[in-house]
Amino acid sequence: MARYIGAVCKLCRRESLKLFLKGDRCYTSKCAMVRRNSLPGQHGKGRKKQSEYGLQLREKQKARRFYGILESQFAKYFDMAERKQGKTGENLLRILEIRLDNVVYRAGFAFSRKEARQLVRHGHFIVNGKKANIPSILLKQGDMIEVKAKSLESAKMKILFDEKRAVTAPKWISVEGKKATIIELPNREDIDLEISEHLIVELYSK
Ligand code: SF4
Repeated sequence: MARYIGAVCKLCRRESLKLFLKGDRCYTSKCAMVRRNSLPGQHGKGRKKQSEYGLQLREKQKARRFYGILESQFAKYFDMAERKQGKTGENLLRILEIRLDNVVYRAGFAFSRKEARQLVRHGHFIVNGKKANIPSILLKQGDMIEVKAKSLESAKMKILFDEKRAVTAPKWISVEGKKATIIELPNREDIDLEISEHLIVELYSK
């Protein structure tokens, strides 16, 4: 299945949620959710109440779009989450959080998850001392990500590591300079995604 290549701000407006898909622009007054927070399309403002299925579908789409995951991969993550102990919805969000591309973004080593995915693919990071260029790698407690020394010479990395850029990593990731370590796996309260994950569980349990 192809990746979505349309206007990404429409996705935020569709979900009525800031999905932070455009990097720094998402934190400014230029954000489409600040300027025009209505559903996209001609009849966006007049949409009717959603069905139960519609609500469940929207929650799944929010999570999928927030992390930039394709439908088939998302379904695989759900299967994985179901097989783990604990609440399936929380397990699912934890799996999505510990993907390498997400951790790179959370650590402040990229402006957006999309950019993080691209930087990982281009081989700019090392995980536990070894080359890692697969964005979907799932990390574990204690894993350490490092920016390659050679990559720091690129203009992109110079902007990213500009000292004036203030990034607050979540408490489960410790960032020191160009290194980030997973100190513990995230709990639900550590994940800032405003969704009702139990609706995703209900959707997949049909
Ligand atoms: Fe979403 Fe970012 Fe666009 Fe705002 S600027 S609508 S948060 S992608």
